[in-house]
Amino acid sequence: MKISVIGGGYVGLVSAACLAQLGHWVELIEIDPDRARSISQGRPQIYEKGLEALLSKHLGERLHVSSIYDHIAESDLSFICVGTPEGEGGRPDLSMVQSACRSLGRSLRDKSSYHLVVMKSTVLPGTTEGLVIPAILKHSRREGDEIGFCMNPEFLREGRAVEDFMHPDRIVIGCNDPISGELAESVYRGIEAPVVRTEIKSAEMIKYASNAFLATKISFANELGNLCKALRIDAYEVMKGVGMDHRINPHFLNAGAGFGGSCFPKDLSALIALAQSLDEKPLILRSVQEVNERQPLRLLELLEGKIGRLKGKRIAVLGLAFKNDTDDIRESRSIPVIMKLKEEGADIVAYDPKAVDSMKRLIQDIEYCPTAADALRGADACIVMTEWPEFSELDEEFDRMRSRVIIEGRRILSCRDIEGICW
Ligand code: NAD
Repeated sequence: MKISVIGGGYVGLVSAACLAQLGHWVELIEIDPDRARSISQGRPQIYEKGLEALLSKHLGERLHVSSIYDHIAESDLSFICVGTPEGEGGRPDLSMVQSACRSLGRSLRDKSSYHLVVMKSTVLPGTTEGLVIPAILKHSRREGDEIGFCMNPEFLREGRAVEDFMHPDRIVIGCNDPISGELAESVYRGIEAPVVRTEIKSAEMIKYASNAFLATKISFANELGNLCKALRIDAYEVMKGVGMDHRINPHFLNAGAGFGGSCFPKDLSALIALAQSLDEKPLILRSVQEVNERQPLRLLELLEGKIGRLKGKRIAVLGLAFKNDTDDIRESRSIPVIMKLKEEGADIVAYDPKAVDSMKRLIQDIEYCPTAADALRGADACIVMTEWPEFSELDEEFDRMRSRVIIEGRRILSCRDIEGICW
């Protein structure tokens, strides 16, 4: 099949590379020319395990990259994978979706055969039918039966995006007519996963409900973890016992500094805003958010308990990415920690195996180091913010600190002298 993918970020780029791997001919349209250039040279600006290998296999063969929409009409279907960041009042900012629909619609004007548009960006229920479909029909000047529409939410996790795309738990396809649904489903031939066919609005809601539930598990584990710490109980021992119940399962029960990333925080805000606009009270969702906002600041309370006032103290922050195996720092819990440390007048020295460049774009006035050992040299204390496996090997490196004060926001270290956020 000939497929065009619009938006070359985590979702679009990974989808494009994996679709090529499935045997499709793929045209990736990334509007940012610098990003498009680095992707076409096989050096994407994002890091994902296995992605570069797929690019080097398929670029120039099954996969082509462009920053213009010229060849869309040659494809059978288009995936929309542009960003939907948090906008005003918590609702998603749909400006990129609108602009993609405009460009896509215009490029379909001269196409005479059927085309399918598959929405992959996360949008609130009603957006595909209320905004995407009318915009594309308007700009393409074509009829509703000449273009089909589906909503196919993406569930990949950054850091394991390639693996998740190729081995999903399920494929959700929301459609209002069987022809579009069949065609969208056929894209995934070769992937073994159950397919859930729903209405378009239900597919949109499945994505939000899934993310809200996972975020709820994390905040629940964190609240229980805080309680366990006060009782001197090991929260991990407790959640191991809890997670063995098949009705609960062991995933997303790791207590720590809270969730970040490009999805959970903004999707939770969007769902809360949606509920409020309908005069519903999102009591659980608001609590999930509140626990998550307080959690990273608990690390600083622990730190002050150990070394007193933070003014003038040299604090090493290990881990900047919102989780391991990615360079993405969006809503990383290390951001509120660094901001608070700055506010308190601490000297901050930071290290991350992949995310230093991303954090430098956001925060310039702290010191960055090329290794964890360099960051630790002469530090008064250290806070571990990301569960990078390489941190589990650290031990003697902590002896370079002025004092071995180590506060852990993720359970990853195995050496002595550690104070964990919930353990
Ligand atoms: P991203 O910001 O990493 O990438 C979006 C890309 O789209 C950018 O490179 C941007 O330049 C490009 N773009 C913007 N407007 C464009 C246009 N008109 N034409 C062509 N390209 C355009 O975003 P992402 O993380 O890939 O997320 C995309 C969507 O998928 C969002 O709705 C997000 O909520 C959802 N999602 C993300 C993840 C994730 O883990 N990142 C997982 C599941 C779903």
